[in-house]
Amino acid sequence: MPGLAERLVGRLTGGGKPVVVHALTDVSLEVAQGEVLGIVGESGCGKSTLGRVVAGIYAPSDGRVTLHGKPIAREHSGNIDKLTTQVQMIHQDPFASLNPRMKVGETLAEGPRYHKIIPSRDVQARMRALLEKVGLEGAYADRFPHQFSGGQRQRVAIARALAMEPEVLVLDEAVASLDVSIQAQVLNLFMDLRRDLGLTALFISHDLSVVRHVCDRVAIMYLGRLVELAPADQLYADPKHPYTSALFASVPTVGTGKRVFEAIKGEIPSPINPPPGCAFHPRCPLAGPRCRMEVPRLTWAGVGRQVACHLNDGGVDSKGAPA
Ligand code: SF4
Ligand code: MG
Repeated sequence: MPGLAERLVGRLTGGGKPVVVHALTDVSLEVAQGEVLGIVGESGCGKSTLGRVVAGIYAPSDGRVTLHGKPIAREHSGNIDKLTTQVQMIHQDPFASLNPRMKVGETLAEGPRYHKIIPSRDVQARMRALLEKVGLEGAYADRFPHQFSGGQRQRVAIARALAMEPEVLVLDEAVASLDVSIQAQVLNLFMDLRRDLGLTALFISHDLSVVRHVCDRVAIMYLGRLVELAPADQLYADPKHPYTSALFASVPTVGTGKRVFEAIKGEIPSPINPPPGCAFHPRCPLAGPRCRMEVPRLTWAGVGRQVACHLNDGGVDSKGAPA
């Protein structure tokens, strides 16, 4: 997805002039076939917007999304291209995304029928097989969403995405609303499917411990920008960006009966009026004068690693703060 950028146009309350909100700025990512890329950040950092752009739900005002070098078609253009079906999104709340009045078998069959992905005569059998593939029973095709538990509904949502035979899945906080024990089951299912089907995925989450389990690489976002990109093992062993370090410090850890929790100071600023320079500077313990004036560019910080922080490009003073 080289050169991906997105703007959302919002309106000031009170009938004021429209304001342009840069939900995403200069976000450029490539995802390899079969790779699971984690997208992490606090709420409001633009990660869901990025997911929706990739899934073709939002069109970027600038930039593009490509799959095998071809732009992904968008549904609002009125002609739904096969490419659109190749990226499927799984949302946080499976209940909201399933039609309560439709039997899940019908819900699963809707997309493949419409897009003629599967011959009509095979649809019923394939949907039952899919339900089994996600750890449910084929006979559950005749049930309604309210007859399932939260974890089962998320399995149905995964089956519905897989029914379209996608190449890319976008999971947006896909396990966030589930109990921890159920989260583990759904994550294990995702890992099995990923291995069996060779899926490529964007795994959007605010939960660093969940991301660690499932992702090969991780992109950290802050206020619509990419601030760090690294292979997961390296990121967890040695975070380079002060924001990434702060995120790790704010994860509650249970050690010898002692719970450690250190919140990141301050709140995420408004994307309507982002701080000048490095958008993280009001909250960064290492911020120096340069940080308040100049936006740090994403620069290399090792093999396969990129960081957007002035500390990473040599301009460091004697105290370690950027000069
Ligand atoms: Fe902190 Fe400056 Fe780096 Fe931004 S550029 S993360 S303010 S040290
Ligand atoms: Mg979100």
